[in-house]
Amino acid sequence: MSDLPALLGGTPVFPKGPPSWPIRMPEIATALSQLYDSGDWGRYSGATLPRLEATLSARWLGQPVLTCASGTLAVRIALQAARIEAGDEVILAAYDYEPNFLAIHAFGAVPVLVDIDPLNGNLDVEQLAAALSSKTKAILVSHLHGGLVPMPQVRALADEHGLILIEDAAQAIGATIAGRPVGTWGDIGTFSFGGSKLLSAGRGGALTFRRAEFYQRAKLALSLGVQSWAVLSELQAAVLLPQCEQLDARTQQRARAVQMLTTHLAHLPGLQPFRNRDHLGEPAYYKVGFWFDSLRMGLSRALFVRALRAEGVAFDEGFRALHIGRSPRRFRTVSPLAQAARAHTSIVQLHHPILLAPPTEVQLVASAVEKTYRNAELLTAKAADCRD
Ligand SMILES: *Cc1c(COP(=O)(O)O)cnc(C)c1O
Repeated sequence: MSDLPALLGGTPVFPKGPPSWPIRMPEIATALSQLYDSGDWGRYSGATLPRLEATLSARWLGQPVLTCASGTLAVRIALQAARIEAGDEVILAAYDYEPNFLAIHAFGAVPVLVDIDPLNGNLDVEQLAAALSSKTKAILVSHLHGGLVPMPQVRALADEHGLILIEDAAQAIGATIAGRPVGTWGDIGTFSFGGSKLLSAGRGGALTFRRAEFYQRAKLALSLGVQSWAVLSELQAAVLLPQCEQLDARTQQRARAVQMLTTHLAHLPGLQPFRNRDHLGEPAYYKVGFWFDSLRMGLSRALFVRALRAEGVAFDEGFRALHIGRSPRRFRTVSPLAQAARAHTSIVQLHHPILLAPPTEVQLVASAVEKTYRNAELLTAKAADCRD
């Protein structure tokens, strides 16, 4: 087979492109047709949503659960239940899902940005204490791209200082830390059932609560506000239930695939997979995060992503760092945020659906990366030609 990159007209490693998501499950078709037969799909409320909430609650240590229209809304409701107000400070990582940062602003509060751990691109717990001030009200922690934040330490710090801990588990549903489900370390945990997410209903979100007080406030906030028009429907609950049953097996399968993939890529010094601290827990992979070193790889990050997309592999650039291109008046920080700045230009992420493919196909992802690396010089030269 020709080694010419697909971007330059060669044959793609995956001619059909990346696998689609959600994957087809007969159980979902059955659930939908049962709703059709009963007519419950057209009702404002039915038995399916309570069943979903009970299923999620069982997964989350029996904690109370609320569902809502999206993961972004769940974070907003969490901040509202935490009574975040103008002038309060909320600590989060400088590399995070941007709407979380904006949600803090929406309450008139000040985001305090903490740098990330070079090991896994997620909030650096060692730098949390330095970010505290007399105005700190809450800490918002996301687990991103297969990375896990050491929650026992974050929890202890929050308790010591009387802070509210909000845990965004949108990318990590099914993961555990020290044996405890991710999302239940926070006083409030938030989840997403968005179209690309590991449990998907096309749209949707959920919250779980460690303290009854926050559950009551969130329930009230939802029932007085958006929840009257932004609920999770019976149809959405129906497609989520069968996925819940498969979640643990799939989480394990994805972890095995990542293990295999990173072993196959270990000889490439320019593509370092995110690593979690030893024995911290079992990650879940919505994305697989890597540090990308363009000098060592011999091509730019943008070109790498384009070349792999052409090979049929769903790589993307990571998030933008929150402090870059933004007025310093919009946040506070106590460090230069050097790792977050590096993340801004140097993270690539692989989208999860390929991780459920047979091992031979997962290996082909490594082949596609190697092919791109072998042809880095050619790709760079041609890309330069195109620009002329
Ligand atoms: C996807 C995502 C959300 C929210 O998702 P919605 O699309 O609004 O359901 C929140 N946080 C993180 C880290 C995410 O990846």
